[in-house]
Amino acid sequence: MIKHLLSAADLDADTATLILDTAGEMAALAEREVKKLPTLRGRTVVNLFYEDSTRTRISFEAAAKRLSADVINFSAKGSSVSKGESLKDTALTLQAMGADAVVIRHPASGAPDRLSSWVDGSVINAGDGTHEHPTQALLDAYTMRSRLGKLDGLNVAIVGDVLHSRVARSNVLLLTTLGAKVTLVGPPTLIPLSPGAAVSYDLDSVLPGADVVMMLRVQTERMQDSYFPSAREYSRRYGLDAARMRRLPEHAIVMHPGPMNRGMEIAPEVADSKRSTIVEQVANGVSARMAVLYLLLGGKA
Ligand code: ASP
Repeated sequence: MIKHLLSAADLDADTATLILDTAGEMAALAEREVKKLPTLRGRTVVNLFYEDSTRTRISFEAAAKRLSADVINFSAKGSSVSKGESLKDTALTLQAMGADAVVIRHPASGAPDRLSSWVDGSVINAGDGTHEHPTQALLDAYTMRSRLGKLDGLNVAIVGDVLHSRVARSNVLLLTTLGAKVTLVGPPTLIPLSPGAAVSYDLDSVLPGADVVMMLRVQTERMQDSYFPSAREYSRRYGLDAARMRRLPEHAIVMHPGPMNRGMEIAPEVADSKRSTIVEQVANGVSARMAVLYLLLGGKA
């Protein structure tokens, strides 16, 4: 097993499949009345969050607690980071406290990688800048596999602000490793060239052939320039509303990593429809992160 999870590229097909299978077993645990396993008793997991997050932070916390680990939540606000402490000094503090795993979210791409050279424990990337978010890709792959039965050969359209999306980057890497075909869809200003993925600027032509549509949040907080004329224009061309959703095949699912801009990239009636897996994704996130913590910290399949 790998020691750190910094990028979805760290996962070959066998390792990724093992994580997804283990997540399945963890999900079965969630059905039980007592949702706890003793496996990580006595181990310490630190959540080191330099950027806001709701889902991801709570999800890692729930995952570590269900495995009986001790969890320390560290947020940059209200800590010595706001006094200018460097990532390296924070890392040395965590090291001195004997963290077995550090889950890090940071606005700078590459921060988890740097951290992994300063601490002895496992480092898990929970989102670094516009770079990667590998556990999101794992929970997304898990969700697709449980809804559609397989990943190999699936047609997945990833739609919207791909340029600023660490979710998209990690998904392209993991999905192509697992045999899915990915098409990136959006305005040309927001679609970077991405090895392994096809590109389209026309959402309507992609929908009839898609098994999965993954809508991305338009990340205005990371935009320094204007990438499209107006929110209304964006939504008209690339937003998924009920009329567009009808172009999808019967079995197709609609995903979104959250947080959503309802009414912008996704209409409320789509987000709340039967095809939508948005709430499932959150639940699956806990199982996927349990599997990652369990396997990285030495658990057996
Ligand atoms: N929650 C995801 C992330 O942290 C997606 C987003 O923020 O749009 O990358």
